[in-house]
Amino acid sequence: MPETTTQTFRVSDELELTWAGVTDRGRRRENNQDSFLAKYPLYIVADGMGGHAGGEIASQATVDRLSDMVDAGDIDDDRILAALQLAVDDIHQHPDTTDEGTGTTLTGVYLDRHEDGWRWVSLNIGDSRVYLERDGRLIQVTTDHSVVQELISSGKISPEEADAHPYSNVITRAVGANELVSPDYVAIDVVDGDRFIICSDGLTKELTDYGILHFLRENSEPADAVSAMVEAALENGGRDNVTLIVLNVRYTGAADDDVDDGGTQEEADSAEPEHSSSTGDSAAE
Ligand code: MG
Repeated sequence: MPETTTQTFRVSDELELTWAGVTDRGRRRENNQDSFLAKYPLYIVADGMGGHAGGEIASQATVDRLSDMVDAGDIDDDRILAALQLAVDDIHQHPDTTDEGTGTTLTGVYLDRHEDGWRWVSLNIGDSRVYLERDGRLIQVTTDHSVVQELISSGKISPEEADAHPYSNVITRAVGANELVSPDYVAIDVVDGDRFIICSDGLTKELTDYGILHFLRENSEPADAVSAMVEAALENGGRDNVTLIVLNVRYTGAADDDVDDGGTQEEADSAEPEHSSSTGDSAAE
């Protein structure tokens, strides 16, 4: 089992993020074509595909170029697209990526500062996923770009039939496989107690939504949660590379409209965020 530790970043007096990420080759694959980046304010997973070393090169190039973007400062959709263009160039120019199907998924979230405060933005290309645990429920934030998702959306198969479908691995959008494609973006408000799960399909092939929720409830610390989920995915077969990031949000700021007009000094002065919102206590299985 790969080791991981929980990391913390205090964004402001009111907003604190903690996270952990892990990637594992799994039990069947010869190499690990997944990559991830968990570097404030960007949290992403990339699942590479393609023969020889192609998949590893594609996912690593994409993560590296987006990491450079984080180091350079601001994040927005133009900068993401520019980073992806550089990644596509890296992939095509690499001597080991002659395979036509070489490419990678990309999914994740970043924290965005905008006029009214903070918000999350999810981004997605392919069939890696972002989930959000909020109010004891697990919500899939991203929509897969896959053949089976199209079949589900058009009512031709049920979600239950998707896993066993012969095209269950075929994605319809990727970084590097063809020309540059833009991610789908979804804006999400910042809510105390939220937990994001960003993962490759090696996790979701082995764990149901219910399973993911179970391990989140059992493990409030991100490092414990990712370790428990990778272990469970391996026990369930580990048929693919498994990668996931768990990101916890602590927010004691203005969730209501009228809070920022003075009179709330004591909240702002406290050294530690007040609420450690223990998700999981209230909802028994
Ligand atoms: Mg995979």
